[in-house]
Amino acid sequence: MCGIVGYVGPKLATPLLIEGLKRLEYRGYDSAGVAIMNGSGVETVKESGKITRLESLLSATPVVGTTGIAHTRWATHGQPNQVNAHPHVSQDGTIAVVHNGIIENSMVLKQMLEGRGYTFQSDTDTEVLAHLTQEFFEGNLEEAVIQALRMVEGTYGIAVISATDSHKIVAARKGSPLLVGLGDQEYFVASDVSAILAHTRQVVYLDDGDLAVLDRDGYRIIDLDATELQKKVSRVDWDLDQIERGGFPHFMLKEIFEQPDTIENTMRGRLLPDDGTSRLGGLNLTDDELLSFDNIVITACGTSWHSALIGENLIEELTRVPVEVEYASEFRYRNPIVNERTLCIVISQSGETADTLAAMREAKRRGARTLGIVNVVGSTIARESDGGIYLHAGPEIGVASTKAFTSQVTALLLFTLKLGRLRDMSILRGREIIDAMKAIPGQVRDILSRADEIEALAEEFKRASNFLYLGRGYNFPAALEGALKLKEISYIHAEGYPAAEMKHGPIALIDEMMPVVFIAPHDSVFDKITSNVQEVKARKGRVIAITSRDEPALKGKIDYEFRIPETLDLLGSILASVPLQLLAYYIAVKRGANVDQPRNLAKSVTVE
Ligand code: GLU
Repeated sequence: MCGIVGYVGPKLATPLLIEGLKRLEYRGYDSAGVAIMNGSGVETVKESGKITRLESLLSATPVVGTTGIAHTRWATHGQPNQVNAHPHVSQDGTIAVVHNGIIENSMVLKQMLEGRGYTFQSDTDTEVLAHLTQEFFEGNLEEAVIQALRMVEGTYGIAVISATDSHKIVAARKGSPLLVGLGDQEYFVASDVSAILAHTRQVVYLDDGDLAVLDRDGYRIIDLDATELQKKVSRVDWDLDQIERGGFPHFMLKEIFEQPDTIENTMRGRLLPDDGTSRLGGLNLTDDELLSFDNIVITACGTSWHSALIGENLIEELTRVPVEVEYASEFRYRNPIVNERTLCIVISQSGETADTLAAMREAKRRGARTLGIVNVVGSTIARESDGGIYLHAGPEIGVASTKAFTSQVTALLLFTLKLGRLRDMSILRGREIIDAMKAIPGQVRDILSRADEIEALAEEFKRASNFLYLGRGYNFPAALEGALKLKEISYIHAEGYPAAEMKHGPIALIDEMMPVVFIAPHDSVFDKITSNVQEVKARKGRVIAITSRDEPALKGKIDYEFRIPETLDLLGSILASVPLQLLAYYIAVKRGANVDQPRNLAKSVTVE
């Protein structure tokens, strides 16, 4: 998920690698390291925290050599500390590996390698790759890497060097981007072209299943059967700024478009379709303990509070355990009913949100067990909670949360599947939900392919000064989230309401100037929402409807329509939130707002 750079050529590798890592800093990371072939062996230097700390270590004890690999880590398995930083080195110290992604079967491989006498230094999933490569090494590095990768399940972008098969880098890709940079008698490998752009614009993009072998004399691309492949050399015309945002004008748009992958990553390796349930290794709760709670309290702030509301619906519907959702800032200052028989779930993208952290500490003080749903591994909430679920959504840079929200809902679904199957949810219901979950990434992709329709809608409404978002059931929290996105980045006043609640106040605001967004897919409350649409239209409100099929009941009552694919009611809010993110984004851009850094807002709210 984070950064890789590698160099082989006539120059000193360390400064080139450090410069490359700095170009990748914008992606966010928690530690950094390099491994250099220094003439007698492979020397590794790594450090937690910023690259400047690694640089100070390297200037105190320089590492000299002309072949090397480097990494910025964004932890998925194990704390972000020095030991877990990459590169990871094989038992005999001759092979070094950097890795982006997740090795799903690392536990099984670790047990197997321990049985063969290997000892592990770190808590990462990556370290198995270093030992496995040693296990298969017989003098040729690419052959050993191929054998190792045959045993691996999961995603990877890797770069590997060996002291024995020296002045060579082997790189491979499956599900995590990687490319080879072609210089003048020097070759690079990088996870992102910005790392090497200062040196070359000629690149070969690797596809899943490709392996690259680089040495001073050239490069070869082969597949996992060692068959040589002919790949196109591309010229990069983008400037650095464009590359960092993946070609998108803003991080927020990039992150909205990443959602098919990030939702997939949250589910990866965790669904057990045969049993209609999920596997969540980090809960640190036995099945009996999970069954022992009388109630669940979910506490969070902002967007995470909206996903908590969806979680409440999910858990109560499928497990029948009573759930209370609390704003973290309120929870900590009242006298909540929380004790040893309470499970307290806390949700925070950064894992550092001050109010959420304080609420979690308060729940712990009262004897509750705590679970964190967080994106940043090793964050304070992740460390202090009793267990949890990582989102694996990758760094979120745009201040307005998008991909973290859809991953939070996905994580809550995984938790609900687990608890539901332990209680009385049927295996068939579990399987039905899993089937629908698997379809979600493709359905989000379909919505994103029609982003231009939303952009046209934004043009129409960019001058509005108020907006109302209405939904029922699972789509009420989606309405809240849609309104929050719009006010955060466009500074237009917006409210989310349960659609029928509108009659008890907001209806007074409706006139021909008021855009009203109805989230009205064909779900179990569709008939109910049509009367609310009618009520708005009768007062000349301008109706934008998010629908999922041709609805005769809405004929003549709506002004604009955007279609989303159909899914189960309990998954609908994920699909509905995507066009609402896009609507907020395009309106804000058209109003000239700074969408990635809206005024007065911080990405991680670490103050009360
Ligand atoms: N899963 C690996 C780890 O946690 C790689 C993390 C990354 O992609 O930066 O160490």
